[in-house]
Amino acid sequence: MKKVLSVNAGSSSLKFKLIDMPEEITLAEGNFERIGKNDAIFNFKAQQIKEKNVVSILNHEKAVQLLVESLTASKVIKDLKEIKGIGHRVVHGGEKFNDSVIIDDEVIKEIDVLKELAPLHNPHNLTGIKIFQKLLPNVPSIAVFDTAFHQSMAKEAFLYGVPYEWYEKYGIRKYGFHGTSHEYVSNRVSKLLGKENANVIVCHLGNGGSICAVKNGKSIDTTMGFTPLTGLIMGTRSGDIDPAIIPFMINKTNKTITEIENDLNKKSGLLGISGISNDSREIEEGIKNGNKRCILAQNMYTRKIASYIASYHVLLGGADAIAFTGGIGENSSQTRQEIVERLTVLNIDLDKNLNDVRGIERLISTKKSEIKCFVVPTNEEVMIARNVIRLTSQ
Ligand code: ADP
Repeated sequence: MKKVLSVNAGSSSLKFKLIDMPEEITLAEGNFERIGKNDAIFNFKAQQIKEKNVVSILNHEKAVQLLVESLTASKVIKDLKEIKGIGHRVVHGGEKFNDSVIIDDEVIKEIDVLKELAPLHNPHNLTGIKIFQKLLPNVPSIAVFDTAFHQSMAKEAFLYGVPYEWYEKYGIRKYGFHGTSHEYVSNRVSKLLGKENANVIVCHLGNGGSICAVKNGKSIDTTMGFTPLTGLIMGTRSGDIDPAIIPFMINKTNKTITEIENDLNKKSGLLGISGISNDSREIEEGIKNGNKRCILAQNMYTRKIASYIASYHVLLGGADAIAFTGGIGENSSQTRQEIVERLTVLNIDLDKNLNDVRGIERLISTKKSEIKCFVVPTNEEVMIARNVIRLTSQ
């Protein structure tokens, strides 16, 4: 048995899971929030222990120290040597990385160069990597990229209809994100179907959301693009819009390009349309109360998802299955039902009782449904740990 730590470091947060491999048993998990503040939060869960501590954590190094201390103090591990590898989620791997990789100085340099494409993420992912390397210098660290799974897309899928030099000179293309989740879920669906070369449409619907068309285990298209802003309508992100809206709105409002970008990232989507919330539970509550803007937001949300599913069904030459994952995909039976109702022309049908489920892996379509539908809770941490094991056992 090998203990592997999965890490996701953000600007003021750090999530972790210690997993026993290959059994894929979670030994400890938790997260830090508000790193940099005197009242940072440290959640730690292991066996019988469930703690929430409010403590001063002024930087990521302090957070990692606390994490390591908690792992030993709680006796989840006796010795740090038991940790056989650390897998770091890295948002952007550009065109350089089409797979996970063992981190060395060269890889660190590349991740740093790629910060140009993911300025809000890669630098923080890199901070996490460097601190773990400093505190646990003998443990191999592996980078698992959110973009890597989509590197299998063909040029005709990943290019935009813009001057070709934009791609050559500036790397303007669709990269796609949520790759680790799409890979994990499509893998699970293939297993559930008992079919290795399955055609699967994975709908990752969380606060951020993306859909991926998976053929024979490989991504052939996905809805996020050069950045995570495009594709589906999300909690606070606009998804696809006509790019000409941006200069038009700059002229109309005198806002800066950064302010407009912020509006599109933080004030749009379910929040922007409903005027109430980005949280689908509150949208559902609003719908119950007859709130017209919530009804509109939900209709726009499910319409967009259904049209991408239909498009990917055609691109795949017929999907075997549709999988729902992410906070909304796993929990909202109403949203799943509304999406599938928009696809009745494809002879898809959900079983009302089976669909009445939250966060549990399950077939939810009827026997007569021509495309099987599943709820599959995602597990990016396990996917990261699998990559650590694969690369460190070579
Ligand atoms: P992130 O993209 O931040 O990882 P998550 O995958 O955790 O997001 O999804 C968060 C979203 O899931 C919330 O905004 C909320 O809308 C939705 N959600 C969580 N639980 C439920 C539920 N029981 N019913 C409906 N929606 C839910």
